[in-house]
Amino acid sequence: MTYALEIEDLTMHFGPVRAVDGVSLRIPRGGVTALVGESGSGKSTVGRCVVRLLKPTSGTVTIGGVDVTRLTRRQLRPHRSRSSIVFQDPAGSLDPRMLVGDVVGEPLRLSGERISRRDRQQRVDRALGQVGLRQEVARRYPHELSGGQRQRVSIARALISSPSLLIADEPTSALDVSVQASVLNLLADLQRDIGFACLFITHNLSAVEYLADEIAVMYLGQLVETGSREQIFARPAHPYTQALLAAAPVADPVRQRAREPILLGDDLPSALDPPSGCRFRTRCPLAFDKCAAEVPPQVKIGDGEAACHLVGADGTRPDVRERVTK
Ligand code: SF4
Ligand code: MG
Repeated sequence: MTYALEIEDLTMHFGPVRAVDGVSLRIPRGGVTALVGESGSGKSTVGRCVVRLLKPTSGTVTIGGVDVTRLTRRQLRPHRSRSSIVFQDPAGSLDPRMLVGDVVGEPLRLSGERISRRDRQQRVDRALGQVGLRQEVARRYPHELSGGQRQRVSIARALISSPSLLIADEPTSALDVSVQASVLNLLADLQRDIGFACLFITHNLSAVEYLADEIAVMYLGQLVETGSREQIFARPAHPYTQALLAAAPVADPVRQRAREPILLGDDLPSALDPPSGCRFRTRCPLAFDKCAAEVPPQVKIGDGEAACHLVGADGTRPDVRERVTK
């Protein structure tokens, strides 16, 4: 199988801070993987390494068969258009002095591809149309638009170079609740129509319930669980995933009752000095002696993997409410 994205043993250390510590992840062509975790878990750092806004400390990031981690800025240029990123805050990521049409068309200019003004104009118009904006928006400035419209501009900009991979880093969390759903739906529709692969970064599991094929859960710089969306929502294996799910608002009140919130206690520990053994142990309701002494290995469970001493190769998984169950 060829993958749109293969991340192998990625680490990103900022001095002594181990923001990302050995993350491996694959997204098939046209697949959507949600990378989920609390703020500070390192998930945005993974996204920035993938589009090479950051040069990782070690590990590889392979996009369409090319490892982009070792490329120089110049070597990177022809590969830039293969991946794009949409950030959380469209106000901060769009240049306020540029007209929207120039913002959207800029990646075409930066790619060095020779393209006529007229062709560029046509592609800008088409990209704006794809995100549901009228052509006259091209002659306005970002600040003249609403937050939702600005995020649509960011998406048009990200997609104009026809990337095979889109990184969406909390694309709706800076928006009014009333427009979050429409932007999420737009992304889901575009993904289905165009077929780009997507790494969807979010702290909110319920945002990906209808969007992701796979879910990867990150805690303090490492992946603690991966699996299909169906499995993660129906049978989460890792205590942290169970806690995240219990905290996620769901539309169905029956399921909401079944999911009493699990209090995690302390805040996320510092990535400067992560806990020994299992990094989640300082907040895990099921922690026992071994958790401080030994790093839990990734164990295959169902169609995914989880790193917890209570997850067994025979399918045994812990339940943070009922203790260990089969
Ligand atoms: Fe909790 Fe221990 Fe499992 Fe970590 S390894 S999640 S501390 S039970
Ligand atoms: Mg972030």
